[in-house]
Amino acid sequence: KVCRADFMHAYENDVKPAFGISKEEFDSYISNGIILWGQSVTDVLEEGQLRIRQTIKGEMTPLVSILIEGPPNSGKTALAAHIALLSKFPYLKFCTAQTMLGFSELAKCQQLKKIFEDAHKSSLSCIVVDELETLLEYAPVGPRYSNNVLQTMKLLFKRPPPKGRKLLIIATTTYRDILDQLGLLASFSKQIHISNMSSGQHILHVLNEIECFNNDELRYLEKKLFDKKLFIGIKSLLDLIEVARQADDSSRVARFLGQLEEVAGMI
Ligand code: ATP
Ligand code: MG
Repeated sequence: KVCRADFMHAYENDVKPAFGISKEEFDSYISNGIILWGQSVTDVLEEGQLRIRQTIKGEMTPLVSILIEGPPNSGKTALAAHIALLSKFPYLKFCTAQTMLGFSELAKCQQLKKIFEDAHKSSLSCIVVDELETLLEYAPVGPRYSNNVLQTMKLLFKRPPPKGRKLLIIATTTYRDILDQLGLLASFSKQIHISNMSSGQHILHVLNEIECFNNDELRYLEKKLFDKKLFIGIKSLLDLIEVARQADDSSRVARFLGQLEEVAGMI
């Protein structure tokens, strides 16, 4: 028999505020913070702020949707989560294929539908849909994708919330062209490109923010890097820095520079 004590026990131990749970989850996608390594990042964040304001204040657009697109490891997921947290909206939800692992197509569609219906109940909501291509089960060999999920997304991305409610959708993708072919790009009010880091200056920005090299090493790296061209995503760079940290003091800088040449094509 279920009695009041059971209810109170569940209330204290199992029922968590919707926002609270999500905030922790959102933080987990920004595990290394957001480093302002260059103009590209500042631009994305500014556009994000602008769209948050548009969602709150706009009278003609209760539905605002943005797509953050960029190469692998460029920091798309972290930026999407960061912008969502900046909004401070009472309903925040993060959709990713990760949490729908093993779901059938139908189950995925139902889950998406539920998330959007819940969002429509709150006056201000923000939904992050991470890695659209993975949710769509896109595979370049074939090529294959789930048409059911595609159609569900198209409908959900277009449906404005009920009167008086506002919804901000932040999606991310690596395959902008595929979304274009699938006709999904038209669903977004704005596409924002995030690029990889392309100059030694970008790298130096990150190195100055992160504790890894000592002052002498930093000065040396500055001389080596300041006029270099390269191509690397923030996630890959953080990985190289982490490896360098584990190396012996004597070989650390040389190793890091060697890795930059190899992974980032530094010239
Ligand atoms: P994937 O292509 O695998 O989906 P991604 O582009 O989504 O990768 P993230 O998973 O967002 O990349 O990884 C970015 C990592 O870099 C996070 O740990 C984040 O905290 C950190 N980071 C530091 N500075 C920035 C920044 N300016 N922008 C984005 N991420 C940053
Ligand atoms: Mg990602």
